[in-house]
Amino acid sequence: MADKKNLIEVKNLKKYFEIKRGILGNKKSYVKAVDDISFAINKGETLGLVGESGCGKTTIGRTIIKLYEPTGGQIIYDDKDIAKLSPKHVLPYRRKMQMIFQDPYASLDARMTVGDIIGESIDIHKLMSGKERTERIHFLLSKVGLNKDHASRYPHEFSGGQRQRIGIARSLAVEPEFIVCDEPISALDVSIQAQVVNMLEDLQEDLGLTYLFIAHDLSMVKHISTRIGVMYLGKMVELGYSNELYKKPLHPYTQALLSAIPVPDPDISSANQRIMLDGEIPSPIDPPPGCRFKGRCKYSKAICSEVEPPLKDLGDNHCVACHLY
Ligand code: SF4
Repeated sequence: MADKKNLIEVKNLKKYFEIKRGILGNKKSYVKAVDDISFAINKGETLGLVGESGCGKTTIGRTIIKLYEPTGGQIIYDDKDIAKLSPKHVLPYRRKMQMIFQDPYASLDARMTVGDIIGESIDIHKLMSGKERTERIHFLLSKVGLNKDHASRYPHEFSGGQRQRIGIARSLAVEPEFIVCDEPISALDVSIQAQVVNMLEDLQEDLGLTYLFIAHDLSMVKHISTRIGVMYLGKMVELGYSNELYKKPLHPYTQALLSAIPVPDPDISSANQRIMLDGEIPSPIDPPPGCRFKGRCKYSKAICSEVEPPLKDLGDNHCVACHLY
């Protein structure tokens, strides 16, 4: 999976959250939100990451940019392992790695002007001040389709789509190389989702950005992603180039996700059978051995309960974790 164009490589990444159980709260358990995952992101590409709520995709994004401390594994950014760096030493990397948050209402401080929201990280990294700072804020507003008059206004004066544009301008303020886009369009009206995706693509081309684009279904990531990773209960179950993954999904879970995408043509739609998944998602606290999808998989066999399937490259960088292959 790795090659020399990588900007980021994640090796055996784990993020466990400790929880207390028992009547006295004296038993420790761990939610294994991200459990031994490896992948790379090439410079200038968009890696889409999909899966149901709670599968660990947002935790991966937050761990890569060190909003969460990893429990184990490596995060190699430009040939340097940043997984164990202290907050002081990670600061230069924070500038290179930014995040666009899902909720454009909750992620902007209602008491700050738009100019101060965008300028905050410029101040934290001591990049510029005075007239230069103001001009940078005006430039960033124009980059996301807003104008300099908006700098003195407050978030409540804007629509959801405009707020997400402000969030994008904020993420660009410190000239990052890599942006985690955490479901940036799922809280927006369908009519403006495409505008925001197109804008992210234009910015990527213009500024040479690399994205990790997180979404909960495959229809949202198809347009923007170079490659797509599918996650299930803390594990990567399939990873491949977008066209290949849509044309020939291998993992039974990916096949079910793709079958749920509505098709606008009624002839094709009636020919495509939706795959309904029965069974419960197991708990991420001490998940059972073997394949984590086995309780919902119609192809499950004896080995699936005993041996965890490794993520195998079947050629052309199409990787799958399933005993059928
Ligand atoms: Fe289904 Fe077994 Fe493949 Fe898991 S490993 S997806 S249970 S066939």
